[in-house]
Amino acid sequence: MFNKILIANRGEIALRVIRACRELGIKTVAVYSQADEQSLHVQMADEAICIGPSASKESYLRPDRIIAAAEIANVDAIHPGYGFLSENARFVEQCKAANITFIGPDPDAIRRMGDKAQARQTAMAAKVPCVPGSEGTLDTVGEALKVAQKIGFPVIIKATAGGGGKGMRIAHNAASFSKEFDAARIEAEKAFGNGAVYVEKYIEEPRHIEFQILGDRHGKVVHLGERDCSVQRRHQKLIEEGPSPFLTQSLREKMGKTAVKLAESINYKNAGTLEFLVDKHGNFYFMEMNTRIQVEHGVTEEITDIDLVKRQILVAAGEKLDLEQKDIKIVRHAIEVRINAEDPARNFAPCPGTIGLYYAPGGHGVRLDSHVYGGYTIPPHYDSMIGKLIAYGRNRQVALDRMYRALGEYTVKGIHTTIPFARAIMKDPVFRAGGATTKYIEDFMARTPKEIWLPGDGR
Ligand code: ADP
Repeated sequence: MFNKILIANRGEIALRVIRACRELGIKTVAVYSQADEQSLHVQMADEAICIGPSASKESYLRPDRIIAAAEIANVDAIHPGYGFLSENARFVEQCKAANITFIGPDPDAIRRMGDKAQARQTAMAAKVPCVPGSEGTLDTVGEALKVAQKIGFPVIIKATAGGGGKGMRIAHNAASFSKEFDAARIEAEKAFGNGAVYVEKYIEEPRHIEFQILGDRHGKVVHLGERDCSVQRRHQKLIEEGPSPFLTQSLREKMGKTAVKLAESINYKNAGTLEFLVDKHGNFYFMEMNTRIQVEHGVTEEITDIDLVKRQILVAAGEKLDLEQKDIKIVRHAIEVRINAEDPARNFAPCPGTIGLYYAPGGHGVRLDSHVYGGYTIPPHYDSMIGKLIAYGRNRQVALDRMYRALGEYTVKGIHTTIPFARAIMKDPVFRAGGATTKYIEDFMARTPKEIWLPGDGR
């Protein structure tokens, strides 16, 4: 087993990994940028090393600086968390060259699933249904328009390097196609330094349902059920829950088997997620794979009672998974709300700043994963998520009531957050009935008076 692990990340996920290491008796090394000196992950780790200035490009995205820190601290392994270098195959190779275990899949599996166009090809080779669309990326608008006309409008133009909902544009007809194609390319080039896009059918009002899988270094892959992440704003998840209120048991089993089959086809090791879109008829289409731990992994931990981050560490160390598919049971319902420092009144603009009074919710069935505290200043350089609140219980209704209660207790003064917005959703009849598709938030905002989802004084 590892003696010491470096966590190449910040915020709540860095803290999450530190907690898993503590329980396993492994020492931890935090890395941080100058903006994160006061961050909780720096204070909680056994050691901490500054790796550069505030900009991620100069710190958390610098493999050379992270590997230098790992060598100085003499660690056995690096946990990448999510985002930053977590899906960078080249970084995995650099770790290997430095004789450090990367806690995640092999570079080959990352490459085969890394970019979305490539992932589609990998899935098609494994005979997994994909959203109808282009074979690969498309260089010219003429070529792309031909594909769009063949599959039929509406279509979605997607950046192959995409993530976080960026580089995606919907075209409803041939007239608007070229404008949207250019917009997607420009946005992708700006966000990812790679403007390559492809085209697929736009599925109307689908659900986003993803399967958590776990593989060891001895060829075993199991799935740990699904998460329904349909509640999204601008293609970004806001609320996730498991099990999905939409899936029947037979569809669940079919999708779970498909997820395992696809992961096995690339000899996948460690934790990963297969994302699918499911239409109203129950047809499902593979969308992409995330070859890392995900933000919403805690939902799966609470519904299965399996600690995914500990399992990641154990399988990376070469341990055999002592879990059989038939033994993995969904024992309760869990729901997660992403708490973002954003202002719903200003179209959810990020609003970094200093937190004043802070009171975290607690009690039976409530879990909060967060790196912030009263007096903490949220730096403007990173994403706006300041924590994840999870509520769980015997069934969906209990979990939702508990979430409503916990959001009511959660006090974060001094900045705007998504707390009041999410709280209003917990009481919304459409959401309560399990009827949310990826269009849900748009509909909810259009039909619900603002006073219901905005706090009285704005803070
Ligand atoms: P990202 O990696 O940026 O999160 P995804 O490929 O996971 O992008 O897609 C994010 C969301 O965008 C999906 O959950 C869904 O709401 C929407 N989306 C993506 N592709 C399609 C599609 N073909 N049809 C309808 N919605 C889509």
